[in-house]
Amino acid sequence: MPVVKALTGRWDEQEPWSLATYERTDGYQALRKVLGGMAPDEVIQLVKDSGLRGRGGAGFPTGMKWGFIPQGDGKEHYVVVNADEGEPGACKDALLMMNDPHQLIEGLVIASYAIRCGHAFIYLRGELVLAGRRLEKAIADAYAAGYLGKNVLGSGYDCEVTLFRGAGAYICGEETALLDSLEGYRGQPRLRPPFPAIHGLYGAPTVVNNVETIGSVPHIVLRGVDWFRSMGTEKSPGPKVFSVSGHVNKPGNYEVPLGITARELIYDIAGGIPGGRALKAWFPGGGSTPMFTEAHLDTMLDYEGVAAAGSALGSASVIVMDDTTCIVRSVLRLEKFYAHESCGKCTPCREGTYWMVQVLERIENGTGTEADLKTLLDTCDNIAGRSFCALGDFATGSVVSSITHFRDEYIAHVEQAGCPFHVERVPLGIS
Ligand code: SF4
Repeated sequence: MPVVKALTGRWDEQEPWSLATYERTDGYQALRKVLGGMAPDEVIQLVKDSGLRGRGGAGFPTGMKWGFIPQGDGKEHYVVVNADEGEPGACKDALLMMNDPHQLIEGLVIASYAIRCGHAFIYLRGELVLAGRRLEKAIADAYAAGYLGKNVLGSGYDCEVTLFRGAGAYICGEETALLDSLEGYRGQPRLRPPFPAIHGLYGAPTVVNNVETIGSVPHIVLRGVDWFRSMGTEKSPGPKVFSVSGHVNKPGNYEVPLGITARELIYDIAGGIPGGRALKAWFPGGGSTPMFTEAHLDTMLDYEGVAAAGSALGSASVIVMDDTTCIVRSVLRLEKFYAHESCGKCTPCREGTYWMVQVLERIENGTGTEADLKTLLDTCDNIAGRSFCALGDFATGSVVSSITHFRDEYIAHVEQAGCPFHVERVPLGIS
């Protein structure tokens, strides 16, 4: 199975982040093509025809999202790039911005032109300092070269871009919390409807797209729909950057066609498990998705395949755990993260995540009982589908799936009055 190098192709170049490298490797040619003769609706139709789906996690069709923006309404329209990558296991957007910031800028100008937006924003996770510096420089260079600002490339179209740094809250990756944060409010999810396409940034119709989604647009414009659809599957076309981390010989970001199997990704591309040890569990889409086991290795990694197997592709962040891993401790670590990142707006998530940490801690530390498993599952039942935003659901995936697949390991903790993995542990960070 070949590794594709569409969005990541420039990573092998000298200073791939520079405008000179970008222009030398077809950079801004897609923008020239769009502004040289394509109507905004043609661009939207092209993206619809490509079948591009949102790469941030939800997998929503991008062209359809753009098509929701009402035209001729006399309002400002906005495009906001969700660059607040914070999913446990995800590190693709950070590299896409660090290594190829102009790809994002070019895609952003094209997207803005398509939905008739004159001022676009990039909401960047503040901790991504180097990505921020490279983006800042790239935006300045793009202004100086006429790719941004008034009368872009002499077309008469004006496009301003503002880079905004968030303060590193996981919840600000949720699009409505992101918009509130961008407006200067505390980052908490908004009630929907109305959706951002109708009432988004400053109450105006807004498209919020992930970094990888926007970065795919210049390639679709330049290489065409057939090229894009020559990869992936009918319903999940195109290449996708997977972040592979954990117990693999070659962790990293790999751009491969959607629909590749997990076995190919983990063993053929990421080099398999160190020391030839056995695979125990893996997450297909970051810590917020239900975990899988070795039995799921032939699952096709596209939106439909992973969902049919009982999890979600999410941000395509594959976390691999070998047989030395304590599942209870791993899930406890994740729950601490979700309890810490719960914004506190709704009771099921705020109290439920806190409570699950207490229960998991006593199981891991040897004072749990078998009844605690029922308590955990009941708590998940009262969070999932009953919380204000998706973070509540995210917090339950690893708990329910781990009890489903590794119930015996939980019982072993109870029966042995502690963790059966007799290795020295460093304390878990977040308390
Ligand atoms: Fe906040 Fe959690 Fe409720 Fe979402 S589910 S609104 S993160 S408390």
